[in-house]
Amino acid sequence: MSELTDLAQLITRCPDCRLCETRTRAVPGEGPEDARIMFIGEAPGFNEDRQGRPFIGAAGKFLDQLLAAAGLNRSTVFITNIVKCRPPNNRDPQPDEIEACSKWLSRQIELIRPGVIVTLGRHSMNRFIPGATISRIHGVPHEVNGLTIVPMFHPAAALHQERYRSLIVADFERLPAILAQAQERVPAPSPPDERPDPASAAVEQGRLF
Ligand code: URA
Repeated sequence: MSELTDLAQLITRCPDCRLCETRTRAVPGEGPEDARIMFIGEAPGFNEDRQGRPFIGAAGKFLDQLLAAAGLNRSTVFITNIVKCRPPNNRDPQPDEIEACSKWLSRQIELIRPGVIVTLGRHSMNRFIPGATISRIHGVPHEVNGLTIVPMFHPAAALHQERYRSLIVADFERLPAILAQAQERVPAPSPPDERPDPASAAVEQGRLF
């Protein structure tokens, strides 16, 4: 089994916040370990909670159309959420739930090392670009700690308010160009024994002698 599959197993049994008491199934996320692009939504909804798969309800159907508009096939991208369990009545995830779940997303990003991360909605954006206003920065790539983050509106926004639809479609249509600019995947960290010690790195960079 791959590390990503092992991780998904751990997530399905996670007891670390109150959402474990009301979930039917946790939704770790899905997609290949070598995905170049990762989409991060907010939280599972009713259908996702039942089936244990992300974005399979109405917002997911629209996400599939958006992926097609970007020339992407769902089977080649990784799709997950900021919190892996459904909040009761689809309320917003609470800060302590997001915090408790954060380790799972961090590990997924470490394993997949996507060249581009698309955040869907403000909760997901806030994890990488705290305090930003989505209406100001949507569709614009941001370099954050070596990751390329592209904040987008949540697909459900277009289901609630038609005026968002064309904005979201236009942002997705720009993804191929963003992917072409970005690195394939974030480089893997070198194993500790191959990492130059700080002194020899300084010599190589001409900072000593
Ligand atoms: N909305 C999300 O943010 N995630 C899902 O998985 C489904 C709907």
